[in-house]
Amino acid sequence: MKFDSKAIHTGERKRAGNCIPVSTPIYTAASYVYEDMDTLDRVFGREIEGPSYIRYNNPTTDALQEALTVLENGAGALACGSGMMALHMAIHAALVDRRRSVLAAKALYGATIHLLVKILEPTGIEVRFVDFNNLGEVEAAVEEDKPGCLLVETISNPLLRVVEIDRLAEIASNAGAALIVDSTFATPFICRPLELGAHMVVHSLTKYLSGHGDMMGGAIISDAGHIDTLNSTARAIGPNLGPFESFLALRGIKTFPLRMERQCQNACRVASWLSAHPSIERVYFPGDPQHPDAAITRRLFPSGVYGAVVSFELKGVAGKEGVFRFMNALQMIVPATSVGDVHTMMLYPVISSHRDLSPKHRERLGIKDNLVRLSVGIESVEDITADLDRALKE
Ligand SMILES: *Cc1c(COP(=O)(O)O)cnc(C)c1O
Repeated sequence: MKFDSKAIHTGERKRAGNCIPVSTPIYTAASYVYEDMDTLDRVFGREIEGPSYIRYNNPTTDALQEALTVLENGAGALACGSGMMALHMAIHAALVDRRRSVLAAKALYGATIHLLVKILEPTGIEVRFVDFNNLGEVEAAVEEDKPGCLLVETISNPLLRVVEIDRLAEIASNAGAALIVDSTFATPFICRPLELGAHMVVHSLTKYLSGHGDMMGGAIISDAGHIDTLNSTARAIGPNLGPFESFLALRGIKTFPLRMERQCQNACRVASWLSAHPSIERVYFPGDPQHPDAAITRRLFPSGVYGAVVSFELKGVAGKEGVFRFMNALQMIVPATSVGDVHTMMLYPVISSHRDLSPKHRERLGIKDNLVRLSVGIESVEDITADLDRALKE
């Protein structure tokens, strides 16, 4: 089956009693009984498959995990209550039998940096940040620190740098470290890190995969080497995504390839429209031939697909006031946090994702005070550019 068909059919149509539901129901039962105690005993003993208790198994969540496993081409998946929980679980699974040291990309999601520095480092885990677009720097740090895991995002936020996952996987594997890839921005429509040698891929299901801005969830899709650890840790900790959210994510996944295709097409058109606009200083988009990772993107992504996020700087705007005026003038585009919803959204990193960084730190990362990030939706592209144009002229 092709990717689009897998997104529609995987995990579905499991027998329930004497019938087969066409779409997986929301199973809310906290526990399950069987015909007799002997069967229940064998279910608990995992001799026969079946749910017993909701923290161990839930048929709705199982269906979602099956779909995610197939879409990312992994050995198994664990759906969690949030993307952040999924990241925490992945790092834990990577470090269980490795050196408690993480080599992380500098350009990570803000909450991920917080998790590493404020939550994990105080527990004795070493954390070091390097530029993952500089493979020499990564190699040197791996040699020096012997980290247990490497952590990177396929497409960084908000400057949209793209990393060479296959080369990073090689560096990690040669050093006996696990490569964890947060592929929330890329999604399996664009890139499947496990096929490139990564050990675990993490998603915020809150974003493209569910796609409607109406739920929170996360997932780790793992290779064969880490799935048992993830599952046994989950049985003890209980990070699991509940059946209602699992249902929403699984429902979203059915139209995800269709949405993503449209969002990527729209993003290409919006990026080139912005590049030609006199009020725009600079556009950041991996499909732009001037983008520093244009060649990597062409090598690793399907042709003509560059993700659906476009960042840009406003010309002649020094800071907050001008950006606020522009964003207040938007009529259709939603000035909200998050990415990947069906509606187009605009975020101002200075007041949101990168608010807690000092202006100096932001400058070092290349995040200017006139930079905004656009998550392109599935609307008619003419309506998106018309809204931007109107607001730019305000
Ligand atoms: C949103 C996001 C997360 C966190 O996901 P939540 O579902 O909000 O916990 C992690 N990484 C990236 C790249 C994200 O965009």
